[in-house]
Amino acid sequence: MTLSKTPQQVLMHSIAIAALTLSAGGYALTAAAAGTESPKPRILVLATGGTIASTGDARSAIGYNAGGVTGEQLTASVPGLDKLATIKAEQISNIGSQDMNSKVWYQLAARIKQAFERNEADGIVITHGTDTMEETAFFLDNVLAASQPVVLVGSMRPSTAVSADGPGNLYEAVEVAASAQSRNRGVLVVLNDTIHSPRWVTKTNTTSVQTFQNPNGGPLGYVDPASIRYLAAAPAGRKGSLAVPNAGLPRVDIVYAHADMDATQIDDAVRHDAKGIVLAGVGDGNASKAALDALEAAARTGIVVVRSSRVGAGFVNRNVEVSDDKTGFVVSYDLNPQKARVLTQLLIGNGVSAADKVQKAFDATH
Ligand code: ASP
Repeated sequence: MTLSKTPQQVLMHSIAIAALTLSAGGYALTAAAAGTESPKPRILVLATGGTIASTGDARSAIGYNAGGVTGEQLTASVPGLDKLATIKAEQISNIGSQDMNSKVWYQLAARIKQAFERNEADGIVITHGTDTMEETAFFLDNVLAASQPVVLVGSMRPSTAVSADGPGNLYEAVEVAASAQSRNRGVLVVLNDTIHSPRWVTKTNTTSVQTFQNPNGGPLGYVDPASIRYLAAAPAGRKGSLAVPNAGLPRVDIVYAHADMDATQIDDAVRHDAKGIVLAGVGDGNASKAALDALEAAARTGIVVVRSSRVGAGFVNRNVEVSDDKTGFVVSYDLNPQKARVLTQLLIGNGVSAADKVQKAFDATH
């Protein structure tokens, strides 16, 4: 019975599934083609956990713990990876990305900088849970200036699921990271044959393998085992222009607007010494009068208040229904609340906290 399998048996099972999946179709084509290239690109895989590193109790897509399989085990379980690139795997953490945190972000940023400075790798792949992948990718995109590709990848199904998507996603992430076409594009996100930019990508579906979307447009490109096709330039922005703050990232809270909203969430954020508050506003970044009044009072005390939207697509512009000039608010444009939070943390950590300067920085990434 599957329930009684040892971790070793479960892993071998997932390796067998990966082998079956990858021996079908065109996977051999790219591996063979890549095998003719010499020397092979060196890809450093930094493993952080997530569903891609998980095993389930049964061969269904439900019931599993994110994290558990190591980076070395993961890369070893994907046939053909060694023909695409020379792979080295390192474990940074082994957590579900619901537990992702700035300590791991700092470790990732430091290790990536070091690896490129020491010429240890031609590209980097980060295996990561999908829940907060967009936040990690966006953080790294703002602090890494290297021209070499850095690619985040995850999966929606555990390695033991029927039609596990992890092995194929990892194969394609390595393919993207090993390609000269991917240089100078900033950090990239690869899932389900699709290449995304950290600024645009967001998780849109709790279970679908095609969960990552750009709600305001299309992806950067597509990847399959035989080709990589970029359709768009990476969005202009301040890629790699912000330093990783020495003192750590300041507290920035997200408050979620809803009908019957009072000022409780905002008062809580102020009481907990938040240096910034991001409003996940209704519509174009709006909220009740009680909430807006409390946010304006917070802004007057020097707390950075950024209006974003809970809607999921579109832009929050200045001075539409809310007077940002009068209240001292900042707008996030297309950045969703979780990414507006990351940028606000980085700006405050880099000494930028006056509303007009913060807005200019949001303008510059826009
Ligand atoms: N909770 C998981 C995580 O983000 C989900 C996933 O990886 O898809 O780590």
